[in-house]
Amino acid sequence: MAVAAFIGLGANLGDRGAALQQALASLAALPQTQVRQVSSLYRSAPVDADGPDYLNAVAELATGLSPTALLQALQAIEAAAGRERLYRNAPRTLDLDILLYGDESIATPTLAVPHPRMGERAFVLLPLSEIAPVRVTPGQLAAVADQRIERTDTLLWPVAGASR
Ligand code: ADP
Ligand code: MG
Repeated sequence: MAVAAFIGLGANLGDRGAALQQALASLAALPQTQVRQVSSLYRSAPVDADGPDYLNAVAELATGLSPTALLQALQAIEAAAGRERLYRNAPRTLDLDILLYGDESIATPTLAVPHPRMGERAFVLLPLSEIAPVRVTPGQLAAVADQRIERTDTLLWPVAGASR
């Protein structure tokens, strides 16, 4: 049975838009997985971190992968994008987080879902509210209203020429 999983995508090094598009193509190519929706592309200031602005988006998947298998797949896609884990909140070529996995609550040493910090991050809540408004409360949006973020007009998905 496919589960609706929401993935947060972010990049703030290199060709950030290309990294996000490549990541979406890689997500669409995962076994038992379809990309159902992708938010607009957003530009945001780093939170608790330094470095260039981030580009962010949120994608909804329908997936038959388990949460653990999905996390492993996301980490493989990050590694293929040249992601290095230098230090906490370091600038990164690609960050893929599991925000929501159906209605499941997961708390293991390597995986926490819903993502513990998503409620404090405008760069998650705004794109998520675009594609899944019921998953975000007005109170959450009000709480992040002071964070610098802007929606762009760049079309991320479908990637030109990609078959779906
Ligand atoms: P962050 O995304 O918090 O900036 P990283 O991308 O470096 O940090 O992830 C660090 C670790 O977070 C990963 O190795 C993974 O095991 C763990 N993790 C816990 N919950 C999640 C989740 N929901 N999505 C992605 N990674 C998670
Ligand atoms: Mg991450």
